Amino acid sequence: MHISDKVKQMPAYIFSELDRKKKVLKEKGIDVIDLGIGAPDLPTPSYIYDALVKEAKDPENHRYSNYNGCLEFRMAVADFYKKQYDVDLDPETEILTLIGSKEGIVHLIQAVINEGDKVLVPNPGYPVYRMGVHLAGGESVDLLLDQDQGFVPQFHLLSEQHLRDAKLMFLNYPSNPTTATIELATFIEAVSFAKKHHLIVAHDSAYHLVTFGNYQSPSILQVPNAKEYAVEIGSLSKSFNMTGWRIGYIVGNKAVIQALATLKSNLDSSQFLPIQKAAAVALRSDFQSVKANNMIIGARMEKLHAALINIGMQCDKPRGTIFLWAKVPSGFTSLSFTEKLRSEAAIIVTPGTAFGTVGEGYVRFALAVTMERIDETIRRLNRLELGKEIPS
Ligand SMILES: *Cc1c(COP(=O)(O)O)cnc(C)c1O
Repeated sequence: MHISDKVKQMPAYIFSELDRKKKVLKEKGIDVIDLGIGAPDLPTPSYIYDALVKEAKDPENHRYSNYNGCLEFRMAVADFYKKQYDVDLDPETEILTLIGSKEGIVHLIQAVINEGDKVLVPNPGYPVYRMGVHLAGGESVDLLLDQDQGFVPQFHLLSEQHLRDAKLMFLNYPSNPTTATIELATFIEAVSFAKKHHLIVAHDSAYHLVTFGNYQSPSILQVPNAKEYAVEIGSLSKSFNMTGWRIGYIVGNKAVIQALATLKSNLDSSQFLPIQKAAAVALRSDFQSVKANNMIIGARMEKLHAALINIGMQCDKPRGTIFLWAKVPSGFTSLSFTEKLRSEAAIIVTPGTAFGTVGEGYVRFALAVTMERIDETIRRLNRLELGKEIPS
């Protein structure tokens, strides 16, 4: 059969492979704890699906949406940015509906680079950036994140050579997989780097509302004049437990938004109107559901974090995301520790190498199971024999 080289060269999405291995264990009747995939286990709050049901009953909503997304949703995004970040956005020109941010990320790359152009992608980082660059015929250049520096971008490691033909740079805070969070100063530095090297900076804010304690994650658009260089990609998936709904947005630089809108108007016809309208209700809510969610995730995080420290693993305590990013015990690699957890404890985690070469030596635990399952995870971890491994 005729299959494109681009697709043939795509490795299977790492999470499909994890799923397959999990299925094998389950078929043997083993009680598997899945801390692999990064999707919230909690339900979408009822006020959001109630809005969906109501809107779905209106035949007006069964037609095509405006290509750029329905104005009601874009206005809700604008009002959210004003309220949350004191950032002004024009819903007509500076906001576009996405069918989930994954779609937006892949198409954004195609909208801004030509074949052979370079894109700076965080290493370790969300694998979709790198795959999106591959699909666009571009070249990914590592933007190195170093734990000793708080996983902020190490711009000084990029040479003239790396930056030649570079057009776009991705950032992601609170970060998947590193769980790193930042202050506005990092975005200020990123925007001036983008300005200096004529780059577009795309900030993926998938976890912007998934934070603990008093920490508030900044928006890159809070940097003065950021709109000249930056776009920010948002998603309702993680903050409102809406992964299956496929709803997100991109905001910021007009020219970039217009380019992506042109591309997308030839590919899709935006998202189902009732989904956009229910998402508008979510963004206009008082965020009590988000706070309640964060309390639940935060409690799981605290408990599992303490247990990892207790068995001698190194792991920074995060201020956001639904993950823990832990160093594997000495004598292990990312993969050998992942295998040990699977074969000896029936715990599925993601090897750090799934997120790039710099992920070697780490594993990612997703906090997407109930507290009972976290307790069971801890019991199994405590039974593991660590430190007696032959180095691999
Ligand atoms: C989950 C995730 C996304 C994808 O979100 P969708 O809107 O559901 O496509 C994007 N970026 C990061 C870093 C994520 O972890």
